[in-house]
Amino acid sequence: MVFFRRIRSRSYLAAQWLARGGLRLATLLADLVYPPGCPLCGADGSSQLCAGCRGGIGRGGNFRCGRCGQTLGPHLVSPESGRGCSSCQGNRWAFSAVERLGLYEGPLREACIRGKSVVAEPLVASLGEWFWECRGERLGGLGIGLVIPVPQHWSKRLLVDHNQAETLAGVLARRLRVPSDRHILAKARWTRDQSSLSASKRRANLRDSFRVRKNNRLDGVHVLLVDDVLTTGTTAHHAARVLKKAGAGRVTLAVLAVVPAVAGRAIDRSDFW
Ligand SMILES: [Zn+2]
Ligand SMILES: [Zn+2]
Repeated sequence: MVFFRRIRSRSYLAAQWLARGGLRLATLLADLVYPPGCPLCGADGSSQLCAGCRGGIGRGGNFRCGRCGQTLGPHLVSPESGRGCSSCQGNRWAFSAVERLGLYEGPLREACIRGKSVVAEPLVASLGEWFWECRGERLGGLGIGLVIPVPQHWSKRLLVDHNQAETLAGVLARRLRVPSDRHILAKARWTRDQSSLSASKRRANLRDSFRVRKNNRLDGVHVLLVDDVLTTGTTAHHAARVLKKAGAGRVTLAVLAVVPAVAGRAIDRSDFW
């Protein structure tokens, strides 16, 4: 039975893969007939994000915690400070700072959700360019030597087709003029969706879930770890942890959006040890 289940599962994955190939081809042909506009709202003009969408997404804001990316009131903490705010002080994240465009709400939330779809690569690339325009000056001064996307497990990759984090990492690496490598860090095993799990189950779910391939060494390198959304920080923490174990001198996290801590999701310090 197990054998047949495996065969059925692999047939399903293969069918999904072929269907996506057809969809990509159809999209390519449609683009030839109808030149693309703004990848988020479809407005005519450039194939980059239009001015309206850029305005809605915002530029990252000045009053945010440099450690966790949460929005703060003025005077509470310097944006570039690594000291942390009341949401994140005391935790032991393996990454040392967060760069982000904004909070996971409004047009940015919509963009992140749509960025997961099969044909969303142009949208994600545009978001990456906008990220660079808003946060590039800061990123460029950090001495980053390598960009690494948070990886997906191979089975998810077959189903989802593209990894937003990879597309974003590619754009940022090109702009920073440093390498981007999606092969160094691997998702060692399939893990359940974090959002439905309690703190203790999140810990168990992600424990040892990442590995650095082929004993790659990152001695002293400042790594920019890239993901689409920062929720509890657990995923990024575990990914950064193995990068540090491989010798990375420092890990900075770049995400499009940070889920607001006040949205019933206070950052759980017990996630980190
Ligand atoms: Zn638009
Ligand atoms: Zn903070």
